[in-house]
Amino acid sequence: MSASSEFNNSQIEVMISAEAIQARIKELGAAIARDYTGRKPELICVLKGALVFMSDLIRAIDLELSIDFIAVSSYGKGTRSTGEVRIIKDLDEPLEGRDIILVEDILDTGLTLSYLVNSFRARGATSISIVTLLNKPERRKAEVQADYIGFTIEDKFVVGYGLDAAERYRNLPYIGVVKSTD
Ligand code: 5GP
Repeated sequence: MSASSEFNNSQIEVMISAEAIQARIKELGAAIARDYTGRKPELICVLKGALVFMSDLIRAIDLELSIDFIAVSSYGKGTRSTGEVRIIKDLDEPLEGRDIILVEDILDTGLTLSYLVNSFRARGATSISIVTLLNKPERRKAEVQADYIGFTIEDKFVVGYGLDAAERYRNLPYIGVVKSTD
């Protein structure tokens, strides 16, 4: 078997190392466990990008909790300017009376999360908070505040740790930026 990797990541510049991500997730998990003591929150992962973050985060929260998944896409693939969001895969369980923690990979324009928060409120959730691994405040269009933020970053297109570029790079253990080839 060849020792060289077929998956060449030399074109990725590391922005946040795997170690830094893991250390920050421990802090986020401890903060959530403290804030939700005595409650049994339901963590909802926004697929696909938040999958990797979700799986590490739940193991850092020392509480009884449950999980669910939702997948959305914005109308007009590629552009997220309209704010119209379509649910591709809905939740398995009703939200009525639940303390919801929405788990996102990156808060960018805020259009996705603002749609989801409004929709979850209408479905009768008792409380809704947001945890996002990354926050890009420069591009915000909708009024959304995350309650727990891993890292605030500048306006660059990032990949890795669940985040993709045309479905690539999700399995990198760190967050990086694709180097420009020119
Ligand atoms: P928004 O906050 O704009 O509604 O959408 C957030 C979603 O846009 C994220 O969940 C993610 O799928 C995508 N997104 C925003 N910024 C980036 C980025 O820098 N890299 C990647 N891979 N996806 C991004």
